[in-house]
Amino acid sequence: MSTKKAIITGGTRGIGYEAVQLLIKNNIEVTAIVRDKEKAKNILPNCALIEYDLSDLKNIKTLLNQLPEADILINNAGIMNTCSIDDYPTSKREALMNINLYTVVELIDHVKHSMIKNGGGRIVNNASIAGHIGHPDVWYGISKAAIINLTKSYAKLYGKNNIVINTVAPGPVNTDLMNNIPVPRQQSLKNGSYAGRFAEPSEIAETMLWLATNSPSYINGICLDINNGAFPR
Ligand code: NAD
Repeated sequence: MSTKKAIITGGTRGIGYEAVQLLIKNNIEVTAIVRDKEKAKNILPNCALIEYDLSDLKNIKTLLNQLPEADILINNAGIMNTCSIDDYPTSKREALMNINLYTVVELIDHVKHSMIKNGGGRIVNNASIAGHIGHPDVWYGISKAAIINLTKSYAKLYGKNNIVINTVAPGPVNTDLMNNIPVPRQQSLKNGSYAGRFAEPSEIAETMLWLATNSPSYINGICLDINNGAFPR
């Protein structure tokens, strides 16, 4: 059996870093799209690296043209801002929407061609509980709700081509992204879960690995909540 190949965004820290480690442990070859290749070389020594800043939508073709064919795409990179909607710089909104949503669509639209040609593939997106319940960073919530929706659309469009695309929607996770949130709000978020704690990045990464590899292929187009009761539905 030939070695599987995966492409991942946001693999240098947090959830994405844990996901890369699990992919490698499972003998999957990883290409990571990173902002700073020199820095990433030390963090991800066992990955092929492609340097690209995903806030740049205009030049996305230069990224797409460098990508190898892949069996798996993990759209993990994402940012959250601390701006109120009444004082939200256009540049910050554009960067967020490019990273969290538009480049995700570009990547899916690109990899789907070789996946279809090769008999199928798996795509895992990282949304958020914010996509269900809204968020103080309104654009963050908007981008994540769109991820949940586009996951269904692509499953509907390409399920017959054996493309299995799912999303995870974590509640608060113990990563750098949480540093943007004031400590009192962090505590109230912890209190909102059954376990009274944030998720660990590895708990989200394990779920992503399962969806990227061994989950039954009939599970397609779903949003898998990983919020420990913060938003039971
Ligand atoms: P993190 O900040 O630790 O990691 C984000 C990753 O994205 C990093 O590797 C970073 O380099 C990369 N990235 C950021 N901007 C980029 C850009 N312009 N170009 C290329 N790469 C860029 O955050 P995390 O918590 O691990 O977040 C990963 C995903 O999980 C995000 O999509 C986030 O929205 C989602 N998520 C996080 C939480 C949480 O509480 N931490 C909850 C729900 C969903």
